[in-house]
Amino acid sequence: MVCRMTVRKITHIDMDAFYASVEQRDDPQLRGKPVVVAWRGNRSVVCAASYQARKSGVRSAMPAVRAERLCPNAIFLPPDFPRYRAVSRQVREIFKRHTDIIEPLSLDEAYLDVSENKTRLPTATLVARTIREQIRSEVSLTASAGVAPNKFLAKIASDWKKPHGPFVIQPEEIDSFLLPLPVGRLPGVGKVTEEKLKHLEVQTIADLRRMDLPTLGGGGRFPVCSSTGSNRDHLLQADLPGLNAPDVHFVLAYRHPAPELVLRAT
Ligand SMILES: [Mg+2]
Repeated sequence: MVCRMTVRKITHIDMDAFYASVEQRDDPQLRGKPVVVAWRGNRSVVCAASYQARKSGVRSAMPAVRAERLCPNAIFLPPDFPRYRAVSRQVREIFKRHTDIIEPLSLDEAYLDVSENKTRLPTATLVARTIREQIRSEVSLTASAGVAPNKFLAKIASDWKKPHGPFVIQPEEIDSFLLPLPVGRLPGVGKVTEEKLKHLEVQTIADLRRMDLPTLGGGGRFPVCSSTGSNRDHLLQADLPGLNAPDVHFVLAYRHPAPELVLRAT
């Protein structure tokens, strides 16, 4: 069942603690310190946290007041999006040296189809490594990279050994890598979905694969996940050629207009 189609080589590049790292890069006084990028206030959420702040449990998207409680000595900085956008553009220029098939997900993440790369490097792994090195030397920031036959796996891979890499999943390694993973490692499966799946006795991706689709919501009645737009298309959708390489065993898809996660076999 594996590799029915031409195998694509997709890399997912993810800047490490991006906004916080830009702040630390530009102000030496912040280096090595817990830095939280967030507006202050009751309704504000954390945009980024340095690795030092993460040691206290601070995470992106958590309420800023919670971050303050967890890490009282953190340095809070308001986000400076024009600066982050400028850095993001620089990083994008590096990507463009390697491929024209780029799907940005946000300022700090993108999928690249490097099946055929412009620099004639012999392997996708080498392309990913080169991109990381160029980001480090030219932009003075670090990025994690994952390499795999599709976007879904490339994203899991970049997260796997973050903040290092590249982590590579070869087509023949997909099952041994993927099946034992907890379902929470799937992009788009958060705590709520994980809980709901647990009630269905689905803990690992192997369990998930054993489930039949109507049970999981393929028939449309079981909303296992709520999610918002930004998560929606990183698994499957893109108008660019190449990035839509079919998933090997199953894909996650979002049905509209209901914000539900459904599973569909390919
Ligand atoms: Mg990132």
